[in-house]
Amino acid sequence: MALCSLERLNEKIKVFSKFGDTGKGGITRFSLSPEALEARAEFKKRMEAIGAIVVTDDMANMYATIPGTEELPAIMSGSHLDSVRQGGNYDGVLGVLTAMEAAETIVKENIPHRHPITVVVWTNEEGARFEPAMMSSGVICGKFNKDDMLASVAKDKLGYTFGDALKASGYMGDEANRMNPAKTTALVELHIEQGPVLEAEGFDIGILEGVCGMINYEFTFSGQAGHAGTTPMKYRKDALYAAVKTIQYLHDELDELDSKLVYTTGKISCHPNIHTIIPDEVKFTLDARHQDPEVIKQVLHIIQKIPAEVEKCQVCYTKAWARKTVTFTSELVDYVEKGAKELGYSNRRIYSGPGHDAQFMIDVIPTTMIFVPSVGGHSHCEIEYTPVENCLKGANVLLKTLLYIDLQ
Ligand SMILES: [Zn+2]
Repeated sequence: MALCSLERLNEKIKVFSKFGDTGKGGITRFSLSPEALEARAEFKKRMEAIGAIVVTDDMANMYATIPGTEELPAIMSGSHLDSVRQGGNYDGVLGVLTAMEAAETIVKENIPHRHPITVVVWTNEEGARFEPAMMSSGVICGKFNKDDMLASVAKDKLGYTFGDALKASGYMGDEANRMNPAKTTALVELHIEQGPVLEAEGFDIGILEGVCGMINYEFTFSGQAGHAGTTPMKYRKDALYAAVKTIQYLHDELDELDSKLVYTTGKISCHPNIHTIIPDEVKFTLDARHQDPEVIKQVLHIIQKIPAEVEKCQVCYTKAWARKTVTFTSELVDYVEKGAKELGYSNRRIYSGPGHDAQFMIDVIPTTMIFVPSVGGHSHCEIEYTPVENCLKGANVLLKTLLYIDLQ
């Protein structure tokens, strides 16, 4: 069977890396920005050139479909073209480019297929300018209220909303064009791993079993402000010291739980944050992720064991948000594995830590994902990189997977 082309895929990566090029090896391509619109125009032009019909829905998600030989629902693949500020040339865009390359291979090599093949571009996956992330896949899968999303205000322009950007983009289409289970039989999203595991362990392909569940808590410590020079240590209620002790407690306890658990305190604030004043209020966050809901429950138990008072400071915490573990469709996961094996590519099963559009789709249609390694585990930065030879392996596994789905 014909496979994808290294030259063609390489050329696609090169051309798309120009849209929003920072000049330092990466891109800044916020959703619906002029740079993102250039990338969309290029996508549309290239897909039409191989005979695709391109439509957009009311959230500007783009669907480029090549017909099959039968009147069947489409097999869908794709990802997002937007990036974070000073992001890389692989996060999201590689899922679109490999789906384009798979579709192009099917067309140019006349590979027979019964189902139509749709290459999809989801709008505003990153949420870098308009929050939240995975906005438009979320709207069409019923996760977010559309009016709330349209009212999302740009982080850098007061009063300018996602709805304004959508209208100005020229890509706002008909709600009837949204992906739905009647029109779509399955979705496969290829993505870079964004972590170090596949590269470190020497695997070409990650076969996604699902997306890790996560919880995010915010802790607040309330003490008493006082003069740094006059208040003896025994009279102090130092909120920062209480917070530090609690962070240490969390690390000690969570480290004992499970080697696959990852947890992070990435945000901390200290009030009044003045070097001569004892802190009276400190807040920090805890983000914890694991594929097994039982482990997440144990994390909660550890949090609940924190006393109401630490070092004479009041402690309270609230759940900022949570995400349940997502399990992908097992038949599709098996197809990805079969494809990787037939092609002789080294592979392992893996869960995703980051969120992806595909995790919303699974509630609506059979869905899975394919990972390719990220060199050094770097992502959301300009040095994000996957060698084109490995991108090609991902594209070939994707092509095989789409064709297995076509036979079912
Ligand atoms: Zn992404």
